[in-house]
Amino acid sequence: MKLTTGWLKPPYASTGIDHLGTQAPCGMIYSQLLPGITNVTDRARYYSFYPWLVWSYDQRYLKDDHAHFVERFRRADCLFTLIAERHSQVSDQEGEQHGIAMVGRIKLVPALARLKAGESLRLSQYATTENTADRYFVNRLGGLSQYYAGTLANLLIMESSTTSWARYSEEYGTLLAQNFDTDIPGKRFWEIVEGDKVTQANLDELSEFCACNIPSSRAECQQLASSQIAQLMFVELLRAHLAASGAFPVGWLRALGDSRLAPSLRLMHQAPERDWKLEALASACAMSRTTFSVRFKASVGRTPFAYLIEWRMRLAERALRESDLSVAGVGQSLGYTSESAFSHAFKRVVGRAPRSYRASPDACVTEK
Ligand SMILES: [Zn+2]
Repeated sequence: MKLTTGWLKPPYASTGIDHLGTQAPCGMIYSQLLPGITNVTDRARYYSFYPWLVWSYDQRYLKDDHAHFVERFRRADCLFTLIAERHSQVSDQEGEQHGIAMVGRIKLVPALARLKAGESLRLSQYATTENTADRYFVNRLGGLSQYYAGTLANLLIMESSTTSWARYSEEYGTLLAQNFDTDIPGKRFWEIVEGDKVTQANLDELSEFCACNIPSSRAECQQLASSQIAQLMFVELLRAHLAASGAFPVGWLRALGDSRLAPSLRLMHQAPERDWKLEALASACAMSRTTFSVRFKASVGRTPFAYLIEWRMRLAERALRESDLSVAGVGQSLGYTSESAFSHAFKRVVGRAPRSYRASPDACVTEK
């Protein structure tokens, strides 16, 4: 059988409020694996909200009462959905921008009608873990453990080790939570969670939590966009890989979740221009060179150096698309002393020369 390979147009543009750029690749993966499934990642604010929720819980309460944590977490999860849905109703009614895919919506949206009629509602009635008609979600940690924990762990924002008690990472999770905290009325949010009583007016005063307000939260956006190298890599590699093969990138996902390999990935991402030696990468992971090489290859599907070069070229693509740097300058910033060495590497990975790529980044290349 003759097989012809080709390049697909990568999903550089994604609609909606997907500030992490995860929606398009996830949509592609989901649609390929499970046709018809809802794309659960399209409420990008959860990536900020959940780390913030756990972080700000820590600022307010003792950390040793798990039942208390779960109870407050669930109330907050419900409140978050109610805020977004209410905001959708009072603004443009375009659910896409606000609350159309929020967790627990099926049970919580009908409750909004009661608020409209002037009633108030108890969050605990929906947040309950008991099997009642109003329970918003079965999973104890709601949407976090059902949909987002794995991705947040892959992005190094939250920790994957604990299941019963969600943790944010010191490195990224704390920063993100603090930045999110600067633009939302966090104190008021917790007062309402604590008071266990919500009115329509409460939802309106908390509307800054709605996903549509992400663009107005500059610190949050910046934190997500600029300093989160891991997630940029995740998104870029996912895009590139999907563009190249359309297949599910098991290797990268597994490597991101492999805490023993993580130090080597971090080093390469932080200083892609460095002339990394196997020795240094292996010792950062506390492994012998052989063990490291074998494990890396098994997990990522390529050698550390092939990975490094590929990562450099993803950065190069972005620089060519978005900056005015000369081709030689781009190469230099990634550790290539000559333009020809850089162009050669670029062509091998991307399939065409840097100048041609810069002229039309989105062009499909049929031959490698
Ligand atoms: Zn909104």
